[in-house]
Amino acid sequence: MSGRSFLQIPGPSLVPERVVRAMSQPLIDHRGPQFAALQREVTSGLKEIFQTVEGRVLLFPGSGTGAWECCIVNTLSPGDKVLGCVNGHFSDLFCKTATAHGIDVERLEVEYGAGVPAEQIEERLRRDQERQIKAVLVVQTETSTGVTSNLAEIRKAMDAAAHPALLLADVVSSLGCSDLRFDEWKLDVALTAPQKGLMLPPGMALLAVSEKALEANRSAKCPRSFWDWRQVLESNAAGHFPYTPATALLFGLSESLKMLSEEGLQNVFHRHARLAEACRRAVEAMNLKLFPRNPAEYSNTLTAIAMPHGLDADAFIDHTLKLVDLPLGKGLGKVKGKLFRIGHLGSLNELELLGVLAGIEMALKSFAVKIPLGAGLAAAETYLLETSDRRSPL
Ligand code: PLP
Repeated sequence: MSGRSFLQIPGPSLVPERVVRAMSQPLIDHRGPQFAALQREVTSGLKEIFQTVEGRVLLFPGSGTGAWECCIVNTLSPGDKVLGCVNGHFSDLFCKTATAHGIDVERLEVEYGAGVPAEQIEERLRRDQERQIKAVLVVQTETSTGVTSNLAEIRKAMDAAAHPALLLADVVSSLGCSDLRFDEWKLDVALTAPQKGLMLPPGMALLAVSEKALEANRSAKCPRSFWDWRQVLESNAAGHFPYTPATALLFGLSESLKMLSEEGLQNVFHRHARLAEACRRAVEAMNLKLFPRNPAEYSNTLTAIAMPHGLDADAFIDHTLKLVDLPLGKGLGKVKGKLFRIGHLGSLNELELLGVLAGIEMALKSFAVKIPLGAGLAAAETYLLETSDRRSPL
């Protein structure tokens, strides 16, 4: 198709031109001085995105799934007990990664569409008199349902229980889209991948780790080699990595960090929140139902929409792709076929979002969903106009 491509799955997001250009420069020696400068630059830029001064940042070739494994094997030992909060497909897989490494995962099951209830974590930790629970596993934005859990509240709950468990957070689809305060919320690990809010192609696992997590690392007995934090921190101190790094992705990361810094992190969050709200208003004006239950937990990254009763969401997504060349996210795991997801993350502006909403309206109408054509667009346009003076508040 001619014109701009759309990719409205909730990650990978479209890679901006500036990042593509940065990645296409000639490779450099990954053991040379130019590389050392690049490594230091991206590490310190990432610290700003994680909002950490205290934490250390580690980069690996890999993906979010690799980052789960990296987090588990570096902080825990086989047989350790953890509390795994499960409110969707990705939190389920995070917990299963721990189980695969011999960790005893007690699952706190939460209805899909709801956020992780901080008070239930507090209650469980208070009951753990023997302090057997070594860590709490939680996903900030559950990409399968479009729900963002409140990490600040979860931290407060853990403090209220005066429990020493590590707080291990998956921020794969929230970093660079929603506020994430590594130091202030006393996270021990925040793990992510670059293909969402960081606007890069997939191919890396990125982690911020606290001093407490590094201390746990010293006694953690899960076998590890490639994922071992200590080797990476030692090599990083000399400006390189213990293996051949993903140099081209690091060029891209350096550029995307510059873009985020130029826009200003708070403005980036605000842009995401505003586009997300415009999208939700459009969906409601189309008489469709948002999948997340609680408005306080709506995600900035994506909107998950319940497919009208009796219709198959996967078939609708296939239809949309065929009709207007617009890829949307399918339902995953338990919600397969029941919902579709619109990604509005990374490098995206108002007119692009309106194009997406127009495509969805056309696709719904021609899929025999009874919607008033143009109603969603009008609702989004109205909201964007009403808030146009608040485009960049800072
Ligand atoms: N965690 C979350 C919240 C995700 O959304 C994803 C992927 O979409 C992952 C983990 C897994 O990441 P990856 O697909 O890069 O392995």
